Amino acid sequence: MRNRCIVCEAPLWEKPLYACKNMPSVSQNLPTADTLSHDQPIHANMRQCMGCGLVQFDCDPVSYYKDSTRANERCASLIHLRETQYKYFIEHYHLQGKKIVEIGAGKGGFLKTLKECSQSSNYRVQEYGLEWNPNFVTIAREKEGVNMQQGDPECETTKIAGAPFDAFTSFAYPARLIHPNAMMQCIYKNTTKSAVGFIQVPSFEHLIQPGGFFDLTVDHIAYYDVSSLQFLLQKNGFHLLEYGFVSNLYLYAIVQKRQPYDLQTAWADIELLKKQFQDFVAENTKNQKKIAVWCAGHFAFVTLATTDTGSKIAYIIDKAPFKQNRYAPISHIPIVSPKHYTKEPVDMIIILAPLYIDEIVQEIRTLCSSHVKIAAMDYGKGIYRIS
Ligand SMILES: [Zn+2]
Repeated sequence: MRNRCIVCEAPLWEKPLYACKNMPSVSQNLPTADTLSHDQPIHANMRQCMGCGLVQFDCDPVSYYKDSTRANERCASLIHLRETQYKYFIEHYHLQGKKIVEIGAGKGGFLKTLKECSQSSNYRVQEYGLEWNPNFVTIAREKEGVNMQQGDPECETTKIAGAPFDAFTSFAYPARLIHPNAMMQCIYKNTTKSAVGFIQVPSFEHLIQPGGFFDLTVDHIAYYDVSSLQFLLQKNGFHLLEYGFVSNLYLYAIVQKRQPYDLQTAWADIELLKKQFQDFVAENTKNQKKIAVWCAGHFAFVTLATTDTGSKIAYIIDKAPFKQNRYAPISHIPIVSPKHYTKEPVDMIIILAPLYIDEIVQEIRTLCSSHVKIAAMDYGKGIYRIS
């Protein structure tokens, strides 16, 4: 019995959500006449993670859990469904001419549909598959004629021949795995920088509908809902682009590998804004003119410290008594109450609190002076005169 979540390792709620009694112990490798006497029911507890919320059985997975056992991969309804999904995925995410790998690709039936779909629509997609069960791999190659390789999809160091791939798909496979993070890391390491993926799992939302219970199988160690699937994907470096339900039974997500933010570009204007602030302070402290700042908050502290203008500011006014008689970090400017203005008047007060500019203008006029010059620094605008 496991007490920790297979995705986030947080504790599971101690009390099972449901004790599933007299469940079939397998859905594949069915008993024969000779083995019938060994066929015993299992009692499996469904439990939920206190952290990510994933609902999971707390027992061991079935012995064949890494085999992507799928019957009827090539039945007419599944061919039609996969075609619809592939067409949307390829056309919407511009995957024409790209390499797509299916993880846990079973006997290659879905890959064959992808291959046929690519040929009939001239998508020029190169199909690849990774499957654990060597017999399935042989069937995929010899019967379906698709590009399949044997390997461990539940191992983050598995190298998939043909990598890096531009896109991946996986159908129900993550729900089988006791180490789903390892599968996602395997995908992460075998795909391109901006790879996209289509992942489908049995939907927990379906299970809790009337009668949904009978769709349970211990072949699936976990039942993801939108939130816990998104958590698994995000935890492993992918962000959710879209999600939806298929026939109310399955939950799918389309994801993309997350890139780090580009702060060099986003903050490319910082040097210019700093220079404007420095020039403004220099211009307004010429000929013994004096400047004060209003608001002893982090915006002011960062502005004054990073522009190295502290020596040119007489003081910082702040109404909060617990800040008064202290000093701004790094710039070491004294912090005073608004009353200090009457003892040591200045020519200009610069407001360094973008959220409260209008309010502070009124306070300056009321508490300090009706004629002192006022300036402010605002997001994106830089420093500017108000009056
Ligand atoms: Zn969890």
